[in-house]
Parts: sequence; structure tokens; C-alpha cells
Amino acid sequence: MVISTPTLWIHGKAVIGQGREIENIDPALDDVLNTYTTASATQIDQAVMAASDAQKKWAELPIAERANILYRTAALIDTHQEALALLEVKDTGKPIRDVVKDDLPSAAEALRYFAKASVTLSGQSNHTGSDHFFYTRPEPLGVCGAIGAWNYPLQIACWKAAPALITGNALLYKPAELTPTSAVVLGQLFQEAGLPANLYQVLLGDAQVGQALVDHSGITKLSLTGSVETGQRVAASAGQSLKKVSLELGGKSPMIVLPDCDLQQAVIGALWGNYYAQGEICSNGTRVFVHHSVLEAFITQLTTALKSIRIGLPQCLSTHMGSLISRTHRDRVLHAIQQAKNEGAECLFGGHIPAEFCDKGAFIEPTLFLCNTDSLQIVQTEVFGPVLCILPFTDEEEVITRANDSPYGLAAGIYTQNLMQAHRIAAQLQAGTCWINAYNVYPQGMPFGGYKKSGIGRENALTTLSEYTQNKSIYVAMKPMEHPFVC
Ligand code: NDP
Repeated sequence: MVISTPTLWIHGKAVIGQGREIENIDPALDDVLNTYTTASATQIDQAVMAASDAQKKWAELPIAERANILYRTAALIDTHQEALALLEVKDTGKPIRDVVKDDLPSAAEALRYFAKASVTLSGQSNHTGSDHFFYTRPEPLGVCGAIGAWNYPLQIACWKAAPALITGNALLYKPAELTPTSAVVLGQLFQEAGLPANLYQVLLGDAQVGQALVDHSGITKLSLTGSVETGQRVAASAGQSLKKVSLELGGKSPMIVLPDCDLQQAVIGALWGNYYAQGEICSNGTRVFVHHSVLEAFITQLTTALKSIRIGLPQCLSTHMGSLISRTHRDRVLHAIQQAKNEGAECLFGGHIPAEFCDKGAFIEPTLFLCNTDSLQIVQTEVFGPVLCILPFTDEEEVITRANDSPYGLAAGIYTQNLMQAHRIAAQLQAGTCWINAYNVYPQGMPFGGYKKSGIGRENALTTLSEYTQNKSIYVAMKPMEHPFVC
């Protein structure tokens, strides 16, 4: 595995982009890691054409052979874990312990899961009358496009590549411009595992390259992980050519802490759901509704836990929280914090750049607000940083109404010992995933995706296969048809 400067991965090899230059920056150290060039319009066209040719042969390959390539790629991710982790850490600023423990294993597991899931890919056969029968064939869509966010670069690439490839499609992938590297390395690993050229290609670039994929007539489906605003733009553009779209978008998810819960577990859930990975996780439970009767105890335990979070350089094994993705993003988060203070939210913890990182990187203290109203901007909009808002509540009906009062609907959490109440509440929450006494865990096979503005479609599950296939119905006559105009 060799990578110095990220390049496009097209035609089965590393190719220098012919578009504009982008500086790839290590957000924790402010170092320019390298300067890469984006894909030009001509390169995008050539990649689509090459993908289209390669896809036809790929779709004819026995599915078990396609699965074996995914298994081998997963094994290569495991083999190169150390080198991959360092690349991912430099691009993202995330702590290496998170990348090694979660990001890389979940990328490899996605490949293994869809390799296994391939055995379920089948059509149906129906004998609904003696004069005919019909059967269906799940067929690939052709050339698919996918666009990733910067928070889980390799994992997002694998979550999209695995279902696309196993179902017989080719994939053109555009990683976020801030995190270009691991998607390209994945191309090398796929090739080493035996994937023929042009089935997984990487087109580095900015929003313009993403938009070119969305608009390209040779691409039949587009899968995006990103913000709601980008999702709206992508869906509108894809509507012009009636491309299929899957959208994994942002959230402002509620976590509900009921009076009888194991409070220590609720605090642990709040840490996973707000501060892990610097809070840069779409499904985070950033609106934490805490019952009045346990409010004081919850705040005490959570602030104690926040004091023990170690902010540090991402390469350091003891670091709990690393750098945010960029200075620009850090300043956006700081602005949201300042606005919350101006609007009257009480800052109980953090809220600043840590003193030791004033001049370097994009670090922010874990931040905790107590909010007296749900109408504050910080309660309404996604911050995508280590910022949690506590919202006190009194009764069940009230908290369900308030939890659902959001344009987002990605996830939710419920903490209680009363499982009847937990299931009752889960059934009423408008969210794609509801965790009971846990938060931000995604076992393979558990569909992940959003209600409302948080998205369209589901990833990480069997149902994802149907998002990369189209059903053909084949009717077989067993008797001659009658002439329609015989009297
Ligand atoms: P953005 O929406 O800004 O970007 C996402 C991707 O879309 C990037 O690759 C970006 O390119 C590209 N893009 C931007 N504009 C366009 C366009 N007009 N056409 C095509 N592609 C475009 O999101 P962020 O990268 O800032 O990621 C954070 C967001 O992603 C948060 O809202 C978060 O909640 C969401 N997210 C959702 C997840 C989910 O599974 N539901 C998981 C992870 C994140 P470029 O990088 O050049 O800007």
C-alpha cells in the first residue's frame, strides 16, 4: 500500500486529476499534507464510460466470486490497519484509538456483511394461474455514483461500495474534499483483492465534481452522505434525470432520560452520543431531554465525566477527543456556542478553545448547555461538534411531542428501566433508529437512515440491496393468448 499524494483512482490506476488544486490539510497540526488535483469534466466522462463497459462483465460474474473479492478486501483492510489508521487520522483529526477500534473495523465489516448478504439476493417465482407463471430478477442499476462526508471517510466509502458492487453495479465515488486519501487507498486494496478495473473508481473533488456526478446521464443512481442542504440540492438535480437517490443526511436527535433509568448508563449514552469523535456524528443525541426529578444528578454526573475527557493530538493513544475537521468548521461551532449564550442558554461546561490549542489545530472543549426553551437556535439546528443541550421535561406525552418537534428524524435514544414505557415511546418517535438504553451503536444488518429531512433510504442492511437493484418481472405464457377482437 503506497500513498503519498492522493490521486484519482480510475482505469485501475492512480491518475493525476486535471481539475483544480486543493491543499489537503492536517486539521490538528495545520500542516499541508499534500496538494492534489480534482477530476476534470473529461476525466469524469471517461470514468463513467469505462465503468459502464466494466459493469456489464461484472454483473455476469457468479455472485459468490463477487463476494470473495469483498471478503479479500476486508482482510486487506485488517492487514493494513496501522497504515490506514494514520492516513485517516491525518485527514480527519480524529483520535487514533477511535479509528483503530471503530472506523476501520466497521469499514471491513461492511464489506463482509454485504458479501454474506449476497446469499439473500433472489427473485420470486409465482404460479398465479394455470395459463402462466412469472418470476422476477433483481438486476443491477448499472453505473452508480456516491458522494461521502468527511467524518467517517473509509467507512462511508465501504458502506456505499459494498452493496453497490455485490449487486453487480460499478461505483464512482467522490470523497469529501477534506478527506480524500482513504477512498483512493480502498481502490488499491480492491484491485489487490481481484476487483477488475473501473468497477470502483475515485473522483477526487469539490462540490462541483459531486454535482457533475449528480447530473451525469451515464449514472443511474446517486447515494449521498452529507448535510440536509446538500441533500436537497442533490435530490432536486437528480429529479431532472429521474435518477434514484439515497440520502443519509443530518440530524438533531433527541435522547430521553426518564426518572427510573440507570443514570450512570444515561450519562455514558450522552458521552457516546455527543462527545465521541468530537461530536462529529450525524446521529448524535444532541437534544437531551432530562426528567426534572433527575436533572440535578444527571448534570452532576455528566460534568464530572466531562472533566475527565482528554483533549489531545489525534496520534496520541491516550487522546479521547481530537481536532475538529477544520478551522472553518471549528469557527462555525464556536459561533453556535456564542449565539446560544446570547440567546440565554446556560453554559455549564466548556464552550471555548482549550488553552493549550489556541494557536494550533481546530480543537474545542466538550460543551454542555442547559436550555430553558426548545426555540433556541442551538436546539433547533445541527452543530456537528461536541455540544450537548439539556432540556428538562415533566411528562411522557410532553417529551414525545417535543422530541418530534424537529424537521430532522435520524435517531433517538430512551433511557429507562421500564421496558413497556420504552417501547411505547419508541413507537411514537419520528426517527429512523431508536436505541433503548444504548446510543450510537450500529450492528451490521440494522437498517440506518432517516425520517423526515434526515434522508431517503437505508444503509447497512439487507434492504440496502434493493436500493442498488431493479426488479424485472418476466411473465411466461403457458397457453396461447386469445385474439382480442374475436367476437
Ligand atoms: P456536505 O453536505 O457539505 O458535503 C457532503 C458531500 O457532498 C461532500 O463530498 C461535498 O463535497 C459534497 N457536495 C457538496 N455540495 C454538493 C453538490 N451541490 N452536489 C454534489 N455534491 C455536493 O456535508 P459535510 O461534508 O459538511 O458533512 C457533514 C454533514 O453530513 C452533516 O450534516 C452530517 O449530519 C451529515 N452526515 C450524515 C450521515 C448519515 O449517515 N446520515 C453520516 C455522516 C454525516 P465537498 O467535500 O467538496 O464539500
